[in-house]
Amino acid sequence: MKELRCDLHIVGGALTGLLTAYCVSSLGYKIVVTEREKITLHNKKPTTDTRTTAIAEGSKVFLESQGLWKSIKSFAEPIKNIKVFDSTANSNLDFKNPTTKSNLGYIVKNSKLISVLIKELKKKNNVDFITGSNLNSISYNNSRIISCSNNKKINSKLIIAADGKNSTVRKILRTNFFKKKYNEKALVINFFHEQPHNNIAYEIFLKTGPLAILPMQKERNRNQSTLIWSNKPDIVDKITSSSLDNNYLKEILNEQIYQLVGNVTYINSVQSFPLSAHINEKFYDNKTVYVGDAAHSIHPIAGQGWNLGLRDVKSITKLLKKTKEMKLEIGTKSFCKTYNDACYYDAYRLYEITDKLDWIFKKDQFYFKFLKKAGLNSINRNTVFKEKIVKFAMGI
Ligand SMILES: Cc1cc2nc3c(=O)[nH]c(=O)nc-3n(C[C@H](O)[C@H](O)[C@H](O)COP(=O)(O)OP(=O)(O)OC[C@H]3O[C@@H](n4cnc5c(N)ncnc54)[C@H](O)[C@@H]3O)c2cc1C
Repeated sequence: MKELRCDLHIVGGALTGLLTAYCVSSLGYKIVVTEREKITLHNKKPTTDTRTTAIAEGSKVFLESQGLWKSIKSFAEPIKNIKVFDSTANSNLDFKNPTTKSNLGYIVKNSKLISVLIKELKKKNNVDFITGSNLNSISYNNSRIISCSNNKKINSKLIIAADGKNSTVRKILRTNFFKKKYNEKALVINFFHEQPHNNIAYEIFLKTGPLAILPMQKERNRNQSTLIWSNKPDIVDKITSSSLDNNYLKEILNEQIYQLVGNVTYINSVQSFPLSAHINEKFYDNKTVYVGDAAHSIHPIAGQGWNLGLRDVKSITKLLKKTKEMKLEIGTKSFCKTYNDACYYDAYRLYEITDKLDWIFKKDQFYFKFLKKAGLNSINRNTVFKEKIVKFAMGI
């Protein structure tokens, strides 16, 4: 089997792996990215994922600093206002951005994000992107780490594992992790509707789980939004089953979204995703660091999962830059631990916050309803606290 030598081997070529490769490539390292799926690199739709990502303002600033935002901007729909309803406590919250210069966030299709990243990476001559390559073993040789997949042997100084929540690298290296199972699935539906969304994002807390309606860019001059509804797996499976009539699905949506964007006129896509959350015991192992969902995955209740992964990318890029400037070795224990210390607390905090939010909003016993109503009302009256929540959501 042919052996490829490089400085960095990035395992996983989705949102986090591709972004890592792009950001780090400007530092001059020789990089190999391997991706299990067979992606056709010149395909305009490189993924079947129909989800969108809510990019927080703070993440947008980082993407801007890397010269990427100019290519993403034309696909991004701004969020200017967030409205939160709690159907069990019958109360609501309204978040606006305290400054008019920026937005609360941006909604971008995952397929667009991936194609922008692939297009930009193809321009880099120090990055090799190998698809259809499923990593299945790891060994060490002196100061190098060697991975084997079905079709390649890659010899590098450091593996950056970006291979998602069921990370193969984590399994092989036996890095421990903590996991929460939610017994929920997220239903993701992109749809056209009658009224303009006015760049408002809605988060509705239903007894069954949170339902978000997020503003998307118009398509063929038609108003478009995406709905993310966490619900019991059997209900989601019924909705996604091909036997369900489209008109019936439109009726279900119209009932759930209270005409917030007018009637649903057309269903563009329906997909579902099982929900779970995890956090690795540490974000490194021997000559390996974990980024994105390979390190942590969280409940999508606040749309922060990839934003958190992007902060890992920011940390590893900064550390690799500093290591290069100081002419130090990459992949040493101290290197990996420094990366871990920069990211772990931030991820742990969000892992816990999103988990507790989901738990509390599902409670509908009398005393919980009372507490939630009192809590939401006092937040709504307290502009300073509201501003703090907005800044937290914006990642600034
Ligand atoms: C319903 C839903 C909505 C969400 N909405 C938002 C949002 O609005 N905002 C936000 O910030 N986040 C959101 N998230 C979270 C976000 O989608 C994830 O955090 C993000 O997609 C993780 O990207 P990743 O590249 O780290 O992992 P993945 O997308 O899982 O990619 C891992 C890649 O590694 C590859 N791979 C796996 N094993 C191997 C192997 N052995 N060898 C080679 N390659 C391998 C896989 O094929 C895959 O391409 C949402 C999540 C869900 C479920």
